[in-house]
Amino acid sequence: MSVKSDLISLKGVGGKLLEKLHKIDVFSKQDLLFHLPYKYQDRTQIIPLKLLKANMAGVVQGRVTSSHVMFGKKRSLLVRLSDENGSVGLRFYFFTKGQQGQFKEGNIIRCYGEIRPGQSGFEIYHPEYQVLKLLNTPLDNTLTPLYPTTDGLTQNKVRLLVEQVIADRESIIAELLPASLLEQYKLPTLVDALNVIHHPQRQDDIQQLLVGNHPAQKRLAIEELLAHHLSLKKHRAILKQQHSIAFKDLGVFKQKLIDTLPFDLTNAQNKVIQEIADDLSVASPMLRLVQGDVGSGKTLVATLSALQVIEHGFQVAMMAPTEILAEQHYDNFTAWLEPLGIKVAWLVGKQTKKQREEALALVASGEAKMVVGTHALFQDAVEFYNLALAIIDEQHRFGVDQRLALKEKGKHGHVHQLTMTATPIPRTLAMSAYADLDCSVIDELPPGRTPIKTTLIAQPRRPQVVERVKVACDEGKQIYWVCTLIDENEEMELEAAQKTYENLTVQLSPHKVGLVHGKMKSKQKAQIMHEFKRGDIKVLVATTVIEVGVDVPNASVMIIENPERLGLSQLHQLRGRVGRGRQESFCILMYGEQVSQIGKERLQVMRETNDGFVIAQKDLEIRGPGEVLGTRQTGAMQFKIADLVRDQALLPQIEQLAAAIIRDYPQNMEALIKRWLSDSARFAQV
Ligand code: ADP
Ligand code: MG
Repeated sequence: MSVKSDLISLKGVGGKLLEKLHKIDVFSKQDLLFHLPYKYQDRTQIIPLKLLKANMAGVVQGRVTSSHVMFGKKRSLLVRLSDENGSVGLRFYFFTKGQQGQFKEGNIIRCYGEIRPGQSGFEIYHPEYQVLKLLNTPLDNTLTPLYPTTDGLTQNKVRLLVEQVIADRESIIAELLPASLLEQYKLPTLVDALNVIHHPQRQDDIQQLLVGNHPAQKRLAIEELLAHHLSLKKHRAILKQQHSIAFKDLGVFKQKLIDTLPFDLTNAQNKVIQEIADDLSVASPMLRLVQGDVGSGKTLVATLSALQVIEHGFQVAMMAPTEILAEQHYDNFTAWLEPLGIKVAWLVGKQTKKQREEALALVASGEAKMVVGTHALFQDAVEFYNLALAIIDEQHRFGVDQRLALKEKGKHGHVHQLTMTATPIPRTLAMSAYADLDCSVIDELPPGRTPIKTTLIAQPRRPQVVERVKVACDEGKQIYWVCTLIDENEEMELEAAQKTYENLTVQLSPHKVGLVHGKMKSKQKAQIMHEFKRGDIKVLVATTVIEVGVDVPNASVMIIENPERLGLSQLHQLRGRVGRGRQESFCILMYGEQVSQIGKERLQVMRETNDGFVIAQKDLEIRGPGEVLGTRQTGAMQFKIADLVRDQALLPQIEQLAAAIIRDYPQNMEALIKRWLSDSARFAQV
């Protein structure tokens, strides 16, 4: 970071102070203007002593009526202040002789602090105070802001600095939203907004400010969201200008595959396949996100789309977040594509050297037209013959940089990108998080699926659950038993799964129980999955590794232990592993005894709906966008002021505003992005 800073011209700023300011991310006058209070104190009026209540904070004033050193458990100075109708105690555990002298009987004291119930009635511990010469010494006339700060940097110091930049604000920051738009959207100017936030005058202002509802805050949030949106749009515009190969939709392979399927495509699948086909048939990169609830048939959509590229002799790569999934895709693709004469290769981390070399050769020679794998696909050693389409499954689990790495593997123009997510993303959130992508939604499940019946059961009723599982096994059903993460601790999760596995093996005998977890060798894992798919294993105990994508149609019951530890969207994902066949499916959420009332209510949502979009919206409200988008994506979604949940209602305006800026004021775009996005965030997006 450069040391040269315009802060130096502020009164009282030197090297030491600069360092402290850097610690709170203040590098310039503009940063200081955007260093916003997290709280306000009202020092504009005196609270009469008889109106004091516990926990209120404010200014009180009175005459000293007594002052004693008390010898209780701990020595303290207790000063009693009184006004006409009431009194309050000031208590000091640390005090000097000089201070004792200030509290002479009859002296007028004004102080600020928080009211607590104490031994002598209401007390204020260690208040800030001053001895007044005049009873009516003027009070502050604006609310006092409290700023985020750091060791050795006092509130007062920050306030004084902010005062200086506020006074000079017009020359420090430019207004980047045109007057016509401000008027149209009824927004205050930036300088007015900042002035109110640093200096709220009225009680109404604070109430609104504290909940983040003040027009001044909205103005800043809108500008920040707008900047992010513009940055994504810009990124998109740059990508769209790249050249990609256009693949005319011949449809021969597609039809051949469709003819072999034992079912018809849903209307939603057909619609999305068409949207992708249109993208692929122009010479500009496809940037499309497909959303669809679990079981909506995304894999097939991806496969049919891949055929459009393969038909022209080009390669397609499909990236999955886990080895289990990569393998499952590999099985599907092999079954679907090899009859059409299309070679499929796969690449995962734990292959043997020989397997890996063979796969690499197939990929490099272009013999394999469809390549599936985990992030092993990104490695430098992987050289494609002519990669033209990258499909990313369950995209929220990959970081932006990983997506980029795969894109670079194309040699014949820019690789088309298709991303698929099984976590439905509420529309408003998608609009801001994925403004650089076109969005398709598979909003229909294949017919004949029976909705999953979900029940909530408390842990102590575990024996009954085991009994039910046993009956289900006797009836030839297959069951998932999922153990969730304990305190983010994988070791303990494993232990719990291991124990459950051992217990169930005994309790359910002679039915075979299997165990699969993340720490297992992939070969072992694959073997267990295979046995489960074949129906040899009746009950599969699993950690959350089975979370995404696994498809075993005969599995119709799922038990989830301690579901309260997971987000709703994650639970929905898990639950989506059952309900894929014809028989009625059940999901039992076996919650722990310590679960809170709110936690239980949250779980009720799972009982009430099977709609992933409804569940995602609830999750967004309860746990925030990080949960819904997946943790790795959130790095690029960190806002200084905006809050995607609180500010949801603003999002449609952001889209319109962005369109207006791009159309009529393109010169402001760059400055807006620069003001709000850190260098690293900007870098990550381009
Ligand atoms: P997703 O990835 O969207 O969760 P999958 O692609 O794994 O769903 O599909 C789930 C199951 O549904 C698979 O067994 C798949 O073969 C099957 N399937 C896909 N499309 C249809 C359809 N139109 N009708 C019936 N079954 C389908
Ligand atoms: Mg899937």
